[in-house]
Amino acid sequence: MIRPDLHMHTAASDGVLSVHELARQVQRADVTLFSVTDHDTVASLPAAFDAAYERGLAFIPGVEISTEGDEDIHILGYGVDPEDEALLSFLRKSDAMRLERTRRAVRVLCDMGMPLDWDELSAGAEGTVGRLHIARALTAKGYVQNEGEAFSKYLGKGRPACVPRETPAASEAISLLRSRGAVPVLAHPGLIPWPQERLLPMLRRWIDAGLMGVEVYHPANRQNYPLWDRIARQNGLLVTGGSDFHDFRGSHGRIGETAAEWPQACEDAWKLYRAAKKHRI
Ligand SMILES: [Zn+2]
Ligand SMILES: [Zn+2]
Repeated sequence: MIRPDLHMHTAASDGVLSVHELARQVQRADVTLFSVTDHDTVASLPAAFDAAYERGLAFIPGVEISTEGDEDIHILGYGVDPEDEALLSFLRKSDAMRLERTRRAVRVLCDMGMPLDWDELSAGAEGTVGRLHIARALTAKGYVQNEGEAFSKYLGKGRPACVPRETPAASEAISLLRSRGAVPVLAHPGLIPWPQERLLPMLRRWIDAGLMGVEVYHPANRQNYPLWDRIARQNGLLVTGGSDFHDFRGSHGRIGETAAEWPQACEDAWKLYRAAKKHRI
């Protein structure tokens, strides 16, 4: 039996664990197939291959690409090659835009009387520095009680330190991933703020661009698992799932938690594993 968790972050983006520590926790949670899907970076993947191999875990190298501005339309890519120059240059652009957005948000917060030290803010970040790092720093400074409050008061959509960000279109990320032999999957549809009448026609366009799956079993979709499971299968798409684990403070899911809620986890994960044939172990 495969017990999958196909969506997790490390300190290379805005998670808190190194890949080796993450692999240890994956094993503790009885997950047997895992994927690291950092935001717009594949920097942790070479070490993740080693960590998976050392622990005898099955592993699919992944990435999570932010698209369409701040609409939470994220495209997961599975079976990516961390040394692929075309992929790396695409991600470098996204990463630079994320960093610029973070710097601008820090300046806004400073002007609002909440100065943050950039070195402290980026301490512990192995890669890019994003909004979750700001939320942690605001909490550590006592400006807010917790990270949730940092987003609801300052960083979330429509709040004063929410700086708009340029990102690629979802269809661009999908085409790029397909052209590199990877499997593009729409992440957490439950987080997309669009009504079904807008989202479903877009889904069809993304399928035309090469989309191959939907991340049905994500904590943000919990209210709509049957709906999204049906939509994905009716459109001939792969069904995937993962916790979106970032840290132990509950900002996102817990390692392995969605596997228990996913009736066909073993069979669906096996299909993804076979589709992501290029670079898995
Ligand atoms: Zn996401
Ligand atoms: Zn994520």
